[in-house]
Parts: sequence; C-alpha cells; structure tokens
Amino acid sequence: MPPQKPPPPEKMQFQLNLRQRGISDQSVLKAMGDVPRERFVSSLDRHEAYRDTALGIACGQTISQPFVVAYMTEQLQLKPAMRVLEIGTGSGYQAAILSRLCREVLTLERFRTLADRAQLELSDLGYDNVEVILGDGYDVPANLGSFDRIIVTAAMEEVPHTLLQRLEEDGILIAPVGPHDGSQVLMRFKRSGDSFARQELLAVRFVPALRGVAREL
Ligand code: SAH
Repeated sequence: MPPQKPPPPEKMQFQLNLRQRGISDQSVLKAMGDVPRERFVSSLDRHEAYRDTALGIACGQTISQPFVVAYMTEQLQLKPAMRVLEIGTGSGYQAAILSRLCREVLTLERFRTLADRAQLELSDLGYDNVEVILGDGYDVPANLGSFDRIIVTAAMEEVPHTLLQRLEEDGILIAPVGPHDGSQVLMRFKRSGDSFARQELLAVRFVPALRGVAREL
C-alpha cells in the first residue's frame, strides 16, 4: 500500500483546537477532519475555512463556527443506524458532518438557492445519504416520518411541540432557543414517552428561524 498522505498542518491544528475546547468523541473529531469545510464556505473565504469562526454565505445566512458544529454533533450521541433531521441546511456543512456518523440525514432549508447549492456540493463529495429538501422546519412534512435525532441550526423562540413529537422514543433534539435579536441557549430535549427532559447546554448565537419557505430565491 502506498503511504497515506499526512493531513495538512492547518487541518491538524483544526482538530487539535477542537480537542482543546473539549470535543472528545473520536468519531466526531474524525468527521470534522474528513469533511472539507472549504467546499462549503464562499470562494472568497477559502483561506479562512479552518479558522474557528462562523462565516457569511448566500442569502444573508451563515455557516456555523466549527466548534459549535462539533459540539452539537457530539451532544446528539449519534449511532450508525440512526435517521436524523436537520432544520437549517445553510451551506450543508453540518449535514455533511452528520452524514459521516449516521445512516440517513434529511435537511430542510427555506431558501431555494442554499438548498440547491448544498445538495450539489454534498452529492459532488459523494455524501449520498443526505437529502436536502426545500421546506419550513416549523411545518415538517408528515410524509418524512419520525427521527432518532433532530438538530435545529437556526434560533427558535421556542421549540414547537409538534417538532418534539417527531422524535422516536429516547430521541434527542438539540436547538438554539431564545430571542432572535439576542443570544440564545443551546437546549437538549430527550424524549421518554410523552415527556421531554430538557437541559441547557451553552450560550450561542444563531441566525433566526423564520416561518415559511422564503419568497425570494
Ligand atoms: N447548518 C448550517 C448553518 C445554518 S444557518 C451550515 O452548516 O451551514 C441557518 C439556516 O437556517 C439558514 O440557511 C436559514 O435560511 C435556515 N432557516 C431559517 N429558518 C428556517 C426554517 N423555518 N426552515 C428551514 N430552514 C430555515
């Protein structure tokens, strides 16, 4: 076998930073190392792709900070057989990370431009277990069924009960919850029958979750 090409120093530093900030799940660290973040940022920002910072993308939205992506992914406690729903595809980067760690990812985005771009990038990378759907995360189509995990990557003032109901038994939902113009708290909900245990995780700042599919592209 030919020797494996070592990862470039900036990628090693990237993973090291995540470790130092407390990410310890090896499978999450591996996914963060494997997925090329430069493919999901705007072409002008390629040189910034491995800095631990959120960056602007089309439609006035953002690709989240890598630490927050890794943290939310770790908190989901994914297993390979799981089916996961993401609300807020944005660039498709979080969906790409999830796709390395579970069976199937469905991701909803309200801007057609972002949904189309993300799907192209994900397919081009061969991440074929992700489906991007143009839609509203406040009104998840019934035919999509229920999920082992749900991750919301836009801030909700509160998590609708109808969304929590889409979790399977023992399912986990993670979402930034709080006012749109301020900081929010990352909340984790775990389903047990008809009750949902809630836990506050971390102060965060996300773009708002807005209702309906966007009328502009
Ligand atoms: N997870 C993304 C970052 C998300 S930014 C990434 O990895 O790049 C939040 C995204 O949520 C934006 O693209 C925004 O358009 C989308 N969004 C906001 N409200 C939504 C809703 N109700 N349904 C679906 N997507 C929504």
